[in-house]
Amino acid sequence: MSESESSQTVIHGISGSPGICIGKAYIVDREGVDIIKRYFISDSWVQPEINRFKSAVKKAKDEHAAIIESLNDDLSSQLNILETHMVLFKDKMLYGKTIETIEKERVNAEWALKKVSRQVKNMFEKVEDPYLQSRVTDIVQVSEQVMRHLVGAQDIKISDINKRVILVAHDLSPADASQIQLERIKGFVTDRGGRDSHTGIIAKSLDIPSVLGLGTVTQLVANDDIIIVDGSNGIIIINPDEDTLFKYEERRARYEEYRAVIARDSHLPAVTLDGKRMGLMANIELLEEVVSVRDNAADGVGLFRTEFLYLDLKRFPTEEELFDKYKELVELLTPKSVTIRTLDINGDKVLPYSQTAEEANPALGMRAVRFCLNRPEIFLTQIKAILRAAAFGNIKLLIPMISCVEEIIQVKKVIETAVWELEDEEKIFNKNIPLGIMIEVPSAVIMAEELGEYVDFFSIGTNDLIQYSMAIDRRNRQVAHLYHPFNPAVIRLVKMIMDAAKKTGVDVVMCGEMAGDPINIPVLMGLGLQELSMNPGSIPIVKQVLRKIDSADTVKLVDQILKMRSVSEISDLVRTRYKDILPLEDSDEQQ
Ligand code: PEP
Ligand code: MG
Repeated sequence: MSESESSQTVIHGISGSPGICIGKAYIVDREGVDIIKRYFISDSWVQPEINRFKSAVKKAKDEHAAIIESLNDDLSSQLNILETHMVLFKDKMLYGKTIETIEKERVNAEWALKKVSRQVKNMFEKVEDPYLQSRVTDIVQVSEQVMRHLVGAQDIKISDINKRVILVAHDLSPADASQIQLERIKGFVTDRGGRDSHTGIIAKSLDIPSVLGLGTVTQLVANDDIIIVDGSNGIIIINPDEDTLFKYEERRARYEEYRAVIARDSHLPAVTLDGKRMGLMANIELLEEVVSVRDNAADGVGLFRTEFLYLDLKRFPTEEELFDKYKELVELLTPKSVTIRTLDINGDKVLPYSQTAEEANPALGMRAVRFCLNRPEIFLTQIKAILRAAAFGNIKLLIPMISCVEEIIQVKKVIETAVWELEDEEKIFNKNIPLGIMIEVPSAVIMAEELGEYVDFFSIGTNDLIQYSMAIDRRNRQVAHLYHPFNPAVIRLVKMIMDAAKKTGVDVVMCGEMAGDPINIPVLMGLGLQELSMNPGSIPIVKQVLRKIDSADTVKLVDQILKMRSVSEISDLVRTRYKDILPLEDSDEQQ
């Protein structure tokens, strides 16, 4: 049902990745609903079948009630629609007719429901009245919800989609997102997810527009609805009217022009007006992204998230499998350096085949290096593969989520064991590679000086540093408004890391999402960062900003910022000071 007379619905979410796309919706969560088969049941099975249908309706209703319950104030415009749906679960036309069909035709509940919802659709298809039209959409959506419970959850096969569409999903796991075929999928939108969730990170690296954390988009959109995804402003528009469509077509063209100009200058060096150079590296998850590393003229790979080599399999990869992939990657990029981060699973990236005890707080549990030290055979296999690949190119080794000195000492022991074993096996390898740790836990910031004595470099992971220092689940949209790299506490933490690094003489790179947003660049320059790693698509824009700033100015800027106490004070200062340099945020159309 629409909320305005023009029948278009605007929903605000969280920007996953910038850009605009317009196309037909493809609802991932309802996959499989269309391939319902009919079967006949005996008399004695009629009542159990009706009960099965009633139980699916109840489950769908309960799920729906929970969604309504969880809606916060700014989504109240969706409440009407959802409350209408609530009533429709027991609507005579749907509920009563389906039970009647099971009874009369002796057919399975799925078939009966499908038949009834199709009849409703056909009945109203030719009716011009927009109210009745939208009521049909509501009934179809409700029946799809019940159907999902009848058929059970279906596997998502995103890689099989063979039309140009915009994905609409409750959530896309990183594994789902990594199946996205760029020539088919124009963009995606999800009910769940936060700005720096792993889904958001993949969205950015895929460089397709996306909006996350939309709450109930899977319930408001029907397959083949036309939707506009405005990833830059975190808005989607369902069934836009002609004026809106026209406006957005224009904006899309303008955005693409802007991207083209930036891409044209991407080969220029990343130096400030006063000649200070910043290393701009790429964060990647998949080997296929090497093309994007080259296209965007990255200085190398500053973060290779290795989880995806594990997520694609049904068991842990062997040393040989990992070695082949790492070798291919470094050979493709040589002489540029590649920082390979060891396995960072659990938290929000779970391996289905790995036995890990149920955890109440996975983000605070057996994640990343903790998992690896707990399963040394898996860790050793990966380290050996990395050391072997290091004989074929320029590799740095990075350990995620170090929270204390003991952990890095243990890691070094595993590296030593890997070296002995490789020597023993007479394999070709290189043990003289830089070792770094992610600084993404507050205790690591506090102990940075001591930790620096054990390693060659720090890599600041702001996605987790913000999550852990501010106690904000990075995937939870309810608290997403608090998640901001300009929080003064975050900036002061980065300053502490920079000071500690200077004292111990270790290099620093920042690889969290903070590094790839143009507005943060003057601040990061002023804090003394000389190397940033980001999704490859952001490099040209960041480079353009860098080329217009003066490093001495940024030092003064940071002096001021370090005395500030709120996000808004800091944002206002940076936006005012650099308004002519930062890319325009296209916010005029937010409705
Ligand atoms: C980070 O935490 O900032 C980071 C780069 O690691 P990930 O996003 O993979 O947790
Ligand atoms: Mg992290």
